[in-house]
Amino acid sequence: CFNMIKFFDQIHKNLLNVVFPAFCNGCSKLLLKNEKIICTTCMHHLPLTHHHNLKDHEMHRAFYGIVPFEFGASLLYFRKKGIAQQLMHNLKYKNQQEIGTFLGNIFSKNVLDLPVFNSIDVIIPVPLHKKRLHERGYNQVTTFCEALEKNLAIPIIDDVLVKSINLKSQIQKSKENRLETNKNVFSIENAHIIEGKHILLVDDIFTTGATIEVCAKEILKIKNTRISIVTMAYTQS
Ligand SMILES: [Zn+2]
Repeated sequence: CFNMIKFFDQIHKNLLNVVFPAFCNGCSKLLLKNEKIICTTCMHHLPLTHHHNLKDHEMHRAFYGIVPFEFGASLLYFRKKGIAQQLMHNLKYKNQQEIGTFLGNIFSKNVLDLPVFNSIDVIIPVPLHKKRLHERGYNQVTTFCEALEKNLAIPIIDDVLVKSINLKSQIQKSKENRLETNKNVFSIENAHIIEGKHILLVDDIFTTGATIEVCAKEILKIKNTRISIVTMAYTQS
């Protein structure tokens, strides 16, 4: 009977694949049976930054004298029409949340043996506003954070940093303007939870760094906190 169930389950899965074939989240080609999330070609062409192996990279230069951090890294380079842009788009707007898990697993493997990760106490995802979270149904960094939580044994805390004001698209605004309007957008609740802790702040894409800067500064106001920063992608200018 159990075998029967398994048999029908297999048929069901195969049928699903015929009715809803799986496409590569990088190049949109049909995935082969043994491929998941992205095809083998895209896997070989993932635009990895290798930040985790570098002592000095773009993030250090972007935040020099602005945000002090212990460790910083992005996994992929985000380029126009590139694989990372496609992945981020599908993760954010097409409910392909397993992309976050996939990238989180790759990132965890990269940093598993880095000593700095032994000192990180908690993971804090950059939050969405309640209203946005309700509309989208999920925060695009959640599955990435969950993969890090599982692989690196660092707990996620998502009730300390909150987004209190919902702003419309900020694409048109300059960095200065954005910082000005971002100032009171994020706030800290239950500050005692993170007192004295080393926090890994996680966001989806590092573009100007404005969002991370504001979040980091809010966290660093809490007594004896330290910050490390990870994003799934980094926009190359
Ligand atoms: Zn592909």
